[in-house]
Amino acid sequence: MKIAVASGKGGTGKSMVAANLAWSLSGSEQVTLVDCDVEEPNLHLFFPEDQPSVSTVTMQVPCVDADRCTLCGECAGFCAFGALVVAKDRVLFFPEHCHSCGGCAITCPAGAITETPRPIGTITERTLSPSLSLVTGTLNEGEVLATHVIREAKETAGTGRWVIFDASPGTSCPVVETLQGSDFCILVTESTPFGLHDLALAYDVTSQMGIPSGVIINRSDGKDEGAHRFCDEKGIRVLAVVPFDRKIAEIQGSGDLISRRDPSWKDRFCAIGRACRSLVEGA
Ligand code: SF4
Ligand code: SF4
Repeated sequence: MKIAVASGKGGTGKSMVAANLAWSLSGSEQVTLVDCDVEEPNLHLFFPEDQPSVSTVTMQVPCVDADRCTLCGECAGFCAFGALVVAKDRVLFFPEHCHSCGGCAITCPAGAITETPRPIGTITERTLSPSLSLVTGTLNEGEVLATHVIREAKETAGTGRWVIFDASPGTSCPVVETLQGSDFCILVTESTPFGLHDLALAYDVTSQMGIPSGVIINRSDGKDEGAHRFCDEKGIRVLAVVPFDRKIAEIQGSGDLISRRDPSWKDRFCAIGRACRSLVEGA
């Protein structure tokens, strides 16, 4: 069962939901939590520090042999991303533009291009308990190919009984990459007009991808009529409403999880997991 946790905007409590859900389910199930917010991964902050294992994410980029290169310009003409420019006396390469398609090496008539790995990020694996592990993708500063690191993080997580992906906020390519292959998506929103607007955007992405979804309204001030109306119209289940509560804010502010502090919240998050599964099975 692969569940993505997403939100149309930042600051809704998406990571809080992902961490609590994973922690709660791991009381009785094997769970892998995957931090796909690779530009600002922070899920590890909810858990005690351990001995992580770190591996490098690389992508293949071209390497031009100046002795063989005839400066014909074929490679630069082929590259749709402007990563290669043929100057008077050499080929210039701009690695941050390269999408690692491999096309320039195939195109080069002189066989002057080979491919070489370039580091763009890391994958960190942590064992948080015998039944809970955390995989964190981190994009190196200045790099842009977040989707590449997300794909590697998801592959590292494998296909366990429960895999929970924490997406980056918004609806751009990294979110689509995170949602790809998920069985279900939890959309986290809050009780404001901005929250509702961004919920609609995020729902559009999940529905276009054919992924069933449910909604958690976080930091509710009790005035959630707009979100409930939206969910009714779209036929989406409201999985939970988390109240705007000083005690909850203090627990989260201290880096703790409400499900770890309060068994009733652990039960509620387990029930959310079961509801997701039954919605998938009933779809
Ligand atoms: S591998 Fe593809 S994207 Fe990268 S420089 Fe070559 S043609 Fe351009
Ligand atoms: S296609 Fe090959 S030979 Fe032509 S400019 Fe590029 S690297 Fe040089």
